[in-house]
Amino acid sequence: MRRCTLPDMATPARMIELKCPQCSATHWERDADFPGMDGDFIEYSDRAYTCPSCARRGAGYGVLQKSPPATHLHPDDFFPLSEEEFAYWQKIRDTHFPSRRKQDQK
Ligand SMILES: [Zn+2]
Repeated sequence: MRRCTLPDMATPARMIELKCPQCSATHWERDADFPGMDGDFIEYSDRAYTCPSCARRGAGYGVLQKSPPATHLHPDDFFPLSEEEFAYWQKIRDTHFPSRRKQDQK
């Protein structure tokens, strides 16, 4: 496993909707394009995730949707989004990552 001491310093995390290759259930993960400090890009389909439906652990998940990076930050600085796009991803974040909401309100 990759050493990752400063996960949020690498690249902003995206929300990724993944489809399980075993049971076809979908779930959301937060992950970054470049999860380590050394900047190697790993395809999301090559990363190991755990399916919440069938508990399958491993790679091979299909990527259905990828949010823009850093939707948990301000939408305007580095990654401009329209109001509609921001509302769309904010809703997904609030639905699938409700614990993020309080942290983000500063
Ligand atoms: Zn599954």
